[in-house]
Amino acid sequence: MSIESPGAGASRVATTIDYEKEGKQVSFLGVPISTDDSAYGTITVPITVIRNGSGPTVYLSGGVHGDEFEGPVALMKLARELETGEVQGRIIITPCLNLPAVLAGKRCSPIDGLNLNRVFPGDPAGSATHVIAHYVTTALLPLCDVQVDLHSGGNTLTFIPYVQMIRSRDEDLQRRTLEAIMKFGAPVALLTTELDPAGNLETMCDELGVMTIQSELGGGGTVSRTNVGYAYTGARNLLKHFGLIEGEIERPEDEGRPPTRLMTFSDRSCYVMAPDDGLFEPFFELGDSCEEGDAVGQVHYPHHIEKLPWKVHATRSGTLLSKRPPGIVRRGDNVAIIAQDMEAA
Ligand SMILES: [Zn+2]
Repeated sequence: MSIESPGAGASRVATTIDYEKEGKQVSFLGVPISTDDSAYGTITVPITVIRNGSGPTVYLSGGVHGDEFEGPVALMKLARELETGEVQGRIIITPCLNLPAVLAGKRCSPIDGLNLNRVFPGDPAGSATHVIAHYVTTALLPLCDVQVDLHSGGNTLTFIPYVQMIRSRDEDLQRRTLEAIMKFGAPVALLTTELDPAGNLETMCDELGVMTIQSELGGGGTVSRTNVGYAYTGARNLLKHFGLIEGEIERPEDEGRPPTRLMTFSDRSCYVMAPDDGLFEPFFELGDSCEEGDAVGQVHYPHHIEKLPWKVHATRSGTLLSKRPPGIVRRGDNVAIIAQDMEAA
């Protein structure tokens, strides 16, 4: 007797989606789980695929982190609205990629405690988060020309809304990505060096030669009309830019806002860390300028109120693009990110 097995390395995700089929398909990616609450359970990660004729494939994802709400809201709306006839090419949308984390409103999955954006390329024999990452790596990314991953700051960071790209090893790809992020319509477009690139979806995309674009829209555990608007308009602008849908790109200057400002994080010194545990008092608001060495805040000691607070200094000159909303900090927490203006080449 022989038992059919999917084979080593095969995905354990089950889906009815046929990526080659013309038309609009609304379904889910079934990820098997076995927990105290559900012995033969399935996580049903929502997915919409729209294909019409020939053209590029753009994959839009949200909810990689479950405490970042703008991407999921905007992409659920977009997935409902888009119809086959208005699309040229193929659009794949997963608004809530790490569904258990989204339902829990947490950065990491409550099933296995993992951060989806640290486990790529994933593992088909691993826990749920690994299985999702592995499916994206092996089933979705090989179909893609462009991957767009909509993030926000989550519970512990808040950002001036921006769209970003990582530095690519492929110069031509980097030039084309830069051109695309300037069309997103966010207040800032950023060329970045990831602080912690291992296991990231964008690192995986770059290794596979897929164009990768991310957003960071607000955060602090909140969701706002303005930032959902940036996510929605930004996703549509990119679909227009790549020729998937028709229409004029909506530019910030058309709405009386300043044009997109091109900025960069060049290295680790752009990330300011808390030097000790305590209560953090920021000295800045988002968008303020600072010089290297300026005090950007201080850490107070609730157990030792007689002790002078520890001043935290800017490690770079630039503009404060991000801060940490929770007042309680531990040594090593990121309390600010400082970006520098850049000339468009
Ligand atoms: Zn995120």
